Amino acid sequence: MSERTGSALDFLHDEIEQLKQAGVFRYPRVLEGAQEPRAVFDGKEVVNLSSNNYLGLANHPKLREAARRAVDTYGAGSASVRTIAGTMSLHTELERRLAAFKRTEAALVYQSGFTANSGTVSAILGREDVIISDELNHASIIDGSRLSRATIKIYPHKDVAAMRRLLEESKDARRILVITDGVFSMDGDIAPLPDIVEVAKKYGAIVMVDDAHASGVLGENGRGTVDHFGLHGQVDIQIGTLSKAIGVLGGYVAGPQVLIDYLVQRARPFLFSTSHPPAVTAACLAALDILEQDDSLIKRLWDNARYFKEGLAELGFDVSGSETPIIPVIVGDGAKAMQLSDRLFEEGVFAQGIAYPTVPRGKARVRTIVTAAHSREDLDRALAAFEKVGRELDII
Ligand SMILES: *Cc1c(COP(=O)(O)O)cnc(C)c1O
Repeated sequence: MSERTGSALDFLHDEIEQLKQAGVFRYPRVLEGAQEPRAVFDGKEVVNLSSNNYLGLANHPKLREAARRAVDTYGAGSASVRTIAGTMSLHTELERRLAAFKRTEAALVYQSGFTANSGTVSAILGREDVIISDELNHASIIDGSRLSRATIKIYPHKDVAAMRRLLEESKDARRILVITDGVFSMDGDIAPLPDIVEVAKKYGAIVMVDDAHASGVLGENGRGTVDHFGLHGQVDIQIGTLSKAIGVLGGYVAGPQVLIDYLVQRARPFLFSTSHPPAVTAACLAALDILEQDDSLIKRLWDNARYFKEGLAELGFDVSGSETPIIPVIVGDGAKAMQLSDRLFEEGVFAQGIAYPTVPRGKARVRTIVTAAHSREDLDRALAAFEKVGRELDII
């Protein structure tokens, strides 16, 4: 055997070289200070159109205060998984509050929205089952589906007729799960949930919706897409995140008590990974207080989104798909999307370029997310930069 030279990881150099040649090799920009509508990234002050801080809660005084107090009372960490010694009274209080907020029997908090999806799907389905999934569903749904070993069938984006055909051909499966994002994270459009529920129920399928981008954004006081469409009691499993509009970290599943009781026995991230530190949970509780008390932040969020979307459309950008504060500016070519993003940054606007494989080839974009915390001046400054750079790059 000839002796090998170099490192066993040398193949990664080639992989990276390919990404660089495609113009899509990226390192994350570094934020100094708090997540604010104007923030310093990579040493430059910019209008921040890249965070998921929809309601400006990430640096809200009430959340900061709740986190500080929880540290003083309960300490910095929980030092155990939930199922051994890591279930603190704060955790069960948050779950009670989330269930009441979502109008479900029960709720269970996971370390993230990602683990809430992957841990729930993989726990409740197995080899004999079928998962019917929108082609644009989040990576955590895809990973959870793979982990479950169920047969995965993908339907074209929001195509309920195609979904029905997949249900029909899967009739003999032990169980069927129909799963969709509530709001799609790269396009900002909303799932046709009433139609999905109607068809799925005819086939006795389980319906699950991932409301990561709808939590705190859609429905009464931000209760999500089920509330938005008036479908309480008709969607079996709702996933929410505490990491986006809620401003902190975590994910949860809301549904019937029997589902939660089962997940406590079987959901692997819940069983095998340490629970949230007290500061995280206390800050989430403070965020729920704010959401329940007053919806003025949500109103401001939607006003700002409307204003910014209309501004971009008037300039001639393609923002046609968006129905929410996620507003993608479609460019097409991956390298060009990155170029638009880089030039915007030089002009004082941070809007992330997104290309294949995160979105399909030919659908590369710069994704913007407007928040309640942006001022009109912030948005006008951003629109001026889009106009200047859009003309320069022949996009408008
Ligand atoms: C962000 C996101 C998640 C993951 O949520 P985290 O709390 O950040 O782990 C899951 N699903 C969708 C659709 C998302 O956009």
